[in-house]
Amino acid sequence: MKRVLVIVAHADDMEFMAGGTIAKMAGLGYEIREVIATNNERGTLDPAWDERFTAETRREEARRGARVLGVDPDVEFLGYEDGRLSETPLNELRERCMRLIRARRPDVLFTWDPFAPYEEHGDHRSIALAATEAASFSHFPLYHPEHAEDGLDPHYVGERYFFAKSPRDFNKTVDIGDQIERKIDALCEHVCQMEMTVTEAQLAVAAAGLDVPFVRDADPGDYRPLIEAQIKAWAASVGKRAGFAYGEEFRRQRFSGVERWLPAGEGLPDDV
Ligand SMILES: [Zn+2]
Repeated sequence: MKRVLVIVAHADDMEFMAGGTIAKMAGLGYEIREVIATNNERGTLDPAWDERFTAETRREEARRGARVLGVDPDVEFLGYEDGRLSETPLNELRERCMRLIRARRPDVLFTWDPFAPYEEHGDHRSIALAATEAASFSHFPLYHPEHAEDGLDPHYVGERYFFAKSPRDFNKTVDIGDQIERKIDALCEHVCQMEMTVTEAQLAVAAAGLDVPFVRDADPGDYRPLIEAQIKAWAASVGKRAGFAYGEEFRRQRFSGVERWLPAGEGLPDDV
């Protein structure tokens, strides 16, 4: 059974960017763990919410979203301040990620693509680089040799799935036609984020001077119709390029690129 480790910055990153693919892998029996770097304490537009309440709410929502996708609901939180991950030294964050990789020993890593352009969120850029570098060197024993004292041995990560809002060089589209509803179900467990998504959509449409009754009259408390419309439109546009009704796309790196030089590597099995 393969092990998958998802390292992200925020509570709903996994669901938004890879929820269908993760659900598909869970359906194949893969063991999937999620790590969230920040406390998510700034993820609200509601002035009545304080940081502590927001962080606690989002931790619980992360566990519920994970459970819907078939991910271990014992989500690991690294406890960094939301919106300020880039102020953490890269070496520190990379060490945290390498420790996790050596402890969880994944076959597959999912994270933000550190090299995709136009990523506005510094938290995404920071965790992407730290997780990617950690996965590249976690099998090198002289990187953090002190991990051995805790019984953590070097570990080689064979496959990496990188996701991005503006993906470049994507080479893998996953057919999520059978998982699209589950992806939406998982997102809808993030109640405060989905309410915020409706409010943000209303702000955006109003700022654009558009009058779209479906958006204008949407009740943030009844967010599912708008979330479903957004997610299905996005997944349909991605899937269309590969001939699927709904898709998620990734820049995937496999086994240090063996398929480029090893003739037998061309027949690498494809899981999803
Ligand atoms: Zn995020």
